[in-house]
Amino acid sequence: MEYFLTEQQQEIKKLVRTIAEEKILPVRAELDEKEEFPWEIMKYLAASDIFRVFIPEKYEGLGGGCLDLCLVIEELSRVCSGVALCYAATSLGTEALILYGSEEQKQKYLPDVAVGKKLAAFAVTEATAGSDAGAIKTTARREKGGYVINGTKQFISNAGEAEIYTVIALTDKARGARGASAFIVEKDTPGFSFGRKEKKMGIRASATRELVFEDCFVPEENLIGREGMGFIITLKVFDQSRPGIGAQAVGIAQGALEAAVDYARQRIQFGHPIIALPAIQIKLADMAIQVEAARALTYAVARTIDSGGKSSTEESAMVKVFASDVAMKVTTEAVQVFGGLGYMRDYPVEKMMRDAKITQIYEGTNEVLRETIALELRKRKARQD
Ligand SMILES: Cc1cc2nc3c(=O)[nH]c(=O)nc-3n(C[C@H](O)[C@H](O)[C@H](O)COP(=O)(O)OP(=O)(O)OC[C@H]3O[C@@H](n4cnc5c(N)ncnc54)[C@H](O)[C@@H]3O)c2cc1C
Repeated sequence: MEYFLTEQQQEIKKLVRTIAEEKILPVRAELDEKEEFPWEIMKYLAASDIFRVFIPEKYEGLGGGCLDLCLVIEELSRVCSGVALCYAATSLGTEALILYGSEEQKQKYLPDVAVGKKLAAFAVTEATAGSDAGAIKTTARREKGGYVINGTKQFISNAGEAEIYTVIALTDKARGARGASAFIVEKDTPGFSFGRKEKKMGIRASATRELVFEDCFVPEENLIGREGMGFIITLKVFDQSRPGIGAQAVGIAQGALEAAVDYARQRIQFGHPIIALPAIQIKLADMAIQVEAARALTYAVARTIDSGGKSSTEESAMVKVFASDVAMKVTTEAVQVFGGLGYMRDYPVEKMMRDAKITQIYEGTNEVLRETIALELRKRKARQD
């Protein structure tokens, strides 16, 4: 389908596809097997200016919008969504700064991200606060000249590898979620360490770890926005970033579809390639329809965000839910097209199916996001009545 991408967007897409095929494809199985953070690839993406894509021009970026970012994530995910997450988590970790950071904060942190010198991460989740993010217990106590952070964040992408962390903590416990604030915490800050590294089902090239804060002092200039804005910032960041999960899901599904078509053309059963069988043709056609529909929705919502559309909460949730469900269905069908070989680690669709699952879970589970969409529908109807 023709998506009328700008020249810059077409170039970004082409360049990332080339990098993915030349640099990531040969090592993706090994990265997955060894659960190894892809530093070499991150450095290569940095040298190719890919981290500049989502950073404003004023801070050494290319000033690309949500769609540009989605194109990068999609192309990386088509080959390896674990690698894509290492990149995407950095954009997630800098989004609060881009949206709400002071001029000094932006000058201090964004150029280093743009040139790929530093990766970033975003931390809200805790052991007792997943979907119910408002239940966080990490505190940031005001002290002379700054804040003292105590608590543990769980399941944080890029933890241990990133240099810059956006951390949500309670500055006023009595106010619950309304008493949360967002802070920048640098990696080498005393009192900040990393806990358990998770062993995951998929996206195994990415790092997922705990952040541990024990009397960790951060200066007051590290507060993003104002005290009490922590969850407003979190929700806004997710509104912007969920199309990126949609793009990750589209990329995974596209990779699986291509692998399935290739295999179906080559595999001979009953004297013919299995692609000649109506059962396989129907599967492939349905997969292709779903991938294209997910891509169209992802690009459309990303464009709405880029054009300053009023509220993207509902649309961002729709993209994430739809595209991730598509990724799960399409990768499962791709395994089916491969038959027994699809179940083997020697073939890529097995990894793609494992990788697809996370897109239904993180940045708001699909159950919770369906509730969000239903709530918006109710609100809209109430306004019309
Ligand atoms: C690999 C990985 C990377 C991650 N990266 C990050 C990161 O970088 N930063 C970060 O802050 N977090 C991160 N997370 C956390 C992720 O966002 C949470 O895991 C997710 O929000 C779900 O929370 P939970 O795991 O506590 O599940 P729970 O909230 O315990 O949910 C369990 C089940 O109950 C359902 N459920 C819960 N509440 C409701 C409800 N109200 N209505 C309907 N169903 C409901 C859920 O849909 C789910 O099926 C990551 C997680 C993983 C696994």
